[in-house]
Amino acid sequence: MEHRDARPGLASPWPTWIDANLRSALEAGGITTPWTHQTTAAELAWSGQSVVVSSGTASGKSLCYLLPALTAAASGTGTTFYLAPTKALAADQLRSIGELGLENVRAATYDGDTPMEERDWARRHADVVLTNPDMLHHGLLPSHARWASTMRKLRFVVVDECHHYRGVFGSHVAQVLRRLRRVARHYGAEPVFILASATVSDPGSTALRLIGAPAIEVIEDGSPRGALDVALWEPPLTELNGENGAPVRRAATAEAATILADLVAEGVRTVAFVRSRRGAESVSLGARRALDEAAPELADRIAAYRAGYLAEDRRALERALHDGDLLGLASTNALELGVDVSGLDAVLIAGWPGTHASLWQQAGRAGRAGRDALAVLIARDDPLDTYLIHHPAAVFGRPVEAAVLDPDNPHVLRPHLAAAAAEIPLTDADAAGFGPAATGVLEELVAEGLLRRRANGWYWTARERATDLADLRGTGGPPVRICEVGTGRLLGTVDAAASHAAVHPGAVYLHQGATYLVRQLDLEASVALVEAGNPDWTTHARDITDISVVRSLRRQQFDGVELHYGSVDVTSRIVSFLRRRVGSGEVLGEEPLDLPPRELRTQAMWWVIDDELLDAAAIEPRDLPGAAHAAEHASIGLLPLVATCDRWDIGGVSTPMHPDTSAPTVFVYDGHAGGAGFAERGYERAQEWLTATRDAISSCECATGCPSCVQSPKCGNGNEPLDKAGAVRLLSEVAARCWGR
Ligand SMILES: [Zn+2]
Ligand SMILES: [Zn+2]
Repeated sequence: MEHRDARPGLASPWPTWIDANLRSALEAGGITTPWTHQTTAAELAWSGQSVVVSSGTASGKSLCYLLPALTAAASGTGTTFYLAPTKALAADQLRSIGELGLENVRAATYDGDTPMEERDWARRHADVVLTNPDMLHHGLLPSHARWASTMRKLRFVVVDECHHYRGVFGSHVAQVLRRLRRVARHYGAEPVFILASATVSDPGSTALRLIGAPAIEVIEDGSPRGALDVALWEPPLTELNGENGAPVRRAATAEAATILADLVAEGVRTVAFVRSRRGAESVSLGARRALDEAAPELADRIAAYRAGYLAEDRRALERALHDGDLLGLASTNALELGVDVSGLDAVLIAGWPGTHASLWQQAGRAGRAGRDALAVLIARDDPLDTYLIHHPAAVFGRPVEAAVLDPDNPHVLRPHLAAAAAEIPLTDADAAGFGPAATGVLEELVAEGLLRRRANGWYWTARERATDLADLRGTGGPPVRICEVGTGRLLGTVDAAASHAAVHPGAVYLHQGATYLVRQLDLEASVALVEAGNPDWTTHARDITDISVVRSLRRQQFDGVELHYGSVDVTSRIVSFLRRRVGSGEVLGEEPLDLPPRELRTQAMWWVIDDELLDAAAIEPRDLPGAAHAAEHASIGLLPLVATCDRWDIGGVSTPMHPDTSAPTVFVYDGHAGGAGFAERGYERAQEWLTATRDAISSCECATGCPSCVQSPKCGNGNEPLDKAGAVRLLSEVAARCWGR
């Protein structure tokens, strides 16, 4: 249990330049004076300095950019692009700007949900355009000429919730922002960037990577906050047996559902954050079931919230939570992103949310003015959660992490250089603004016949839309639509990359408490047909993965161990799925599947060991596959400790004899084309990562391996063979040889 004291606020006077109507509207809304971080950031931005604000949840970050942006709009001295990672957040911002009732401010959203006639209005009249990086990439930048009047006056670019831009997606967004700056410059504008973030370490360097220019850090949070207790909770072991007879802990989602029901029964307004969409659905369902008999009227005040719902359904849920009609909500992190849900008494976090930044972002939702609040982190049955729950210092004693992103990744850079050339022919000076790798990538694009080099720059000469080359969110193609058989009703969508695992034939799909079974997955048409059903099992896809080394880029040699970082080709295919009983996770059976393989060129970290090291670790040849496999699983589980990723972003392969290294080898790779920087971070922080992996396995109380240590929910081999003790000896020997510990 960690206690955070209440803290009084530090107020400061209003900036002298702010619009008088804006000030009276804010004062009428209860903001009598701004907090210090708000005025510091707003003053810097107004004076022309790009700035990154990093402060806690509900610290009023939006005022930092609203003061300058709305003042500029009201006085006709400049326009603003506001970028949010989700449409929901942009809609929320538009609502709060509207509530200020400022006559001279014309704000509009411009995203996939905006009707055509409103888009036209936004282009002609809006001073504050609320949009997202995807829309900037696909819509706004390619048709910049139609935005000429907005671009000419572009004074501010707000990048809200910027800690969300990490990994491959973050790298793409970084390039979209470089394109925006170049287009603005073409119209004679040099916008100031205002970045708002949850508390992250080193926000200045994150901002530099993201916008490609320096920004001043504002990190002194002047807002008041209530006291908060944060508890760590490990669900009990059950009587049940999982794969290979391993003990099974009660699922974090089942535990969260029970606690959510208890809190709602006491009238405590609670949000439960759950990692997966499926988990959010099952927590909501479980909590409702728990209250169904005793208090049916309360059961109806619990709902699920996640991405993949249709926009109008999401809006209705946000309103109900805001108004207090809903008492309990089970949500994915779709809700974490700034949507205004202050005024909660408790927050449950089912499973480590991936980063310290997310933990505090989610926990910080709890607490209304003057009241104490509670947040509970409920451990999942996996090695990272086990490690953290047994090492509270790793949860509470650490700074939040810096976002990992790599805009120079050539896979990312390539489509954006093409898009930039299609927007305005690219000069040598422009190319320099896209980083050191740009010239090489431009030459490749010329060789492929996509760009043509002329005396005054590079031109896009292909017929297709250059922006179609980039897949910003790494979704691997058009989303798969999920439709109900018979009615044809569209229930939602799932990313192409995730579709094989999520909506394969026979998969159980949950949607707002209702359970569906997938009848058919049509990959050509990107449609999954589902039928309502009521099975008491969930499904888990299994895959087979092959890996080959393309090139080792960096290497460290130790006595008996080599560590590598480099590029690899990964081929994986979903081959079957398991059915598991709801709640207990007990395995009921396995069914084969026939799906095509997916191929990926990406980056990996791998370690190669020799026979003499195996002897020293007392690992017999017949025990090697199990020891290496167990070490691989646990290391995948622990990588998020050093890289900003979660275990589903990465994959692994272990083998007693790999053809490319001619030795026992363990690979951990980024699950995104071109790599995401996670494996690289693992290579750089191998000591911390691999020793924590060993400690997580050895501190687990099970006898021969369980999901809390060496079993993996996504193992392609049914978690066989696994040798827990062998993995500890192997990792100990590796750590001793490499780092003397
Ligand atoms: Zn265990
Ligand atoms: Zn495995």
